[in-house]
Amino acid sequence: MANCDETIAKLYEYLDRELSPAERREVEGHLALCPPCREHFRFEYNVLSLIGKRCRETAAPPELVARVRKMCERAPSDP
Ligand SMILES: [Zn+2]
Repeated sequence: MANCDETIAKLYEYLDRELSPAERREVEGHLALCPPCREHFRFEYNVLSLIGKRCRETAAPPELVARVRKMCERAPSDP
């Protein structure tokens, strides 16, 4: 069975769905038996899903676009 270090090391690949089915089973098997790793997994999962949601909703916030545009206007094009 995989130990905690191995499971944590594979957690990001697991969340990115980059593991083979056998590796996924190993990670899932360890998470099922190890509450601390499960907690860690849940935390990372929540962070990733939060970021994913934000990215899907808006490519860039309007304030940021306006600020970048202003910066471009201010930048001297003809020194
Ligand atoms: Zn563990």
